[in-house]
Amino acid sequence: MIASPEIIESVMNPIPVNEPLLDGNEKKYLNECIDTGWISSEGPFVKQFEQQLATRVERQYGIAVCNGSVALDTAVAALGLGQGDEVILPAFTIMSCAAAIVRAGAVPVVVDSDAYTWNMDVSQIEAKITPRTKAIMVVHIYGLPVDMEPVLALADKYGLQIIEDAAEMHGQTYKGRPCGSFGALSTFSFYPNKHITTGEGGMIVTDDEQLAERCQSLRNLCFQPQNRFVHEELGWNFRMSNLQAALGVAQLERLDEFVARKRRMGQLYTELLSDIPELQLPVPQTDYAANIYWVYGIVLKDEVPFDAKEAMRRLSQYKIGTRPFFYPMHEQPVLRNIGLFDGESCPVAERIARRGFYIPSGLALSDEQIEQVAQAVVEILK
Ligand SMILES: *Cc1c(COP(=O)(O)O)cnc(C)c1O
Repeated sequence: MIASPEIIESVMNPIPVNEPLLDGNEKKYLNECIDTGWISSEGPFVKQFEQQLATRVERQYGIAVCNGSVALDTAVAALGLGQGDEVILPAFTIMSCAAAIVRAGAVPVVVDSDAYTWNMDVSQIEAKITPRTKAIMVVHIYGLPVDMEPVLALADKYGLQIIEDAAEMHGQTYKGRPCGSFGALSTFSFYPNKHITTGEGGMIVTDDEQLAERCQSLRNLCFQPQNRFVHEELGWNFRMSNLQAALGVAQLERLDEFVARKRRMGQLYTELLSDIPELQLPVPQTDYAANIYWVYGIVLKDEVPFDAKEAMRRLSQYKIGTRPFFYPMHEQPVLRNIGLFDGESCPVAERIARRGFYIPSGLALSDEQIEQVAQAVVEILK
């Protein structure tokens, strides 16, 4: 058993919440960039990474951008969503999702989470559809996909577009079909805590040639092919560099291995923590997918006399890195201050935001470290 935090402090090395694995061909490909002088977005790794990731998720086109948040901005803009359009999204997600919708001038409409999977409760979507609804932004949360079939059926019935935020879903499938292959456009992030990383980076994937061209133009300032510096539209510089893409190509080579390792890590945590009745652990699998544990989340049940903040504070005494769960979109001051979400309530999202946090989940974590973290979790609940 673990001793008091004071004693632990002197013997235990810190365990960071995330540390990526970069011990494949990353250095080799980065050196190629430097040796050849190709460091900008014009370099060959960018196209290679786009093609390889698109192929991996059974899409025709990949458009690499500089992070997963702007991938969402690009997707929203490419679909022409704007003033007066409503976009349905989960309350429980990262700010990037609502920010992309609001910046486009459209209106975010939130749906509460399923208490068991933490994903958007798809049975609540239809009640939120109005004549102004144009799209559903689906966000797969923490390693388990959203139940897509009912969402696809609703999109079909009401003529809605789907944007699929697959930032946390590299290598995951829904009923055997790759995440990132659903809807008009899907987006990925390659931040260092994702299953594959480029440091900073993102991608939009699609099967629609016109949407792909729109995304390519939007990420590149809407330069015109014939008349470069004459602009009909406003775009952004969201380009990914060859250096980032070099990392991406090296990481993608190991995706299957990484997914297998993450699954093993999740299973080990579950074995070590499942005897603690006060904890709700991630769902290992549903009838449509087995969890890939982007992060290993924990929700404190009501009988625990403190909240996630206190649990995280206690774990920090054991030098264990943690992060809180997402904070619901309808409770964000920046959105409420512009008049959104008055009177909105999403009880599940509100509860898990306050009682949920995640423990170290990075690919560089060893089994021994996982055991140390699990022991500390047991300790702090005593
Ligand atoms: C990480 C993440 C993003 C944002 O990606 P960045 O590359 O950090 O901008 C968007 N959506 C979800 C669901 C994410 O987990």
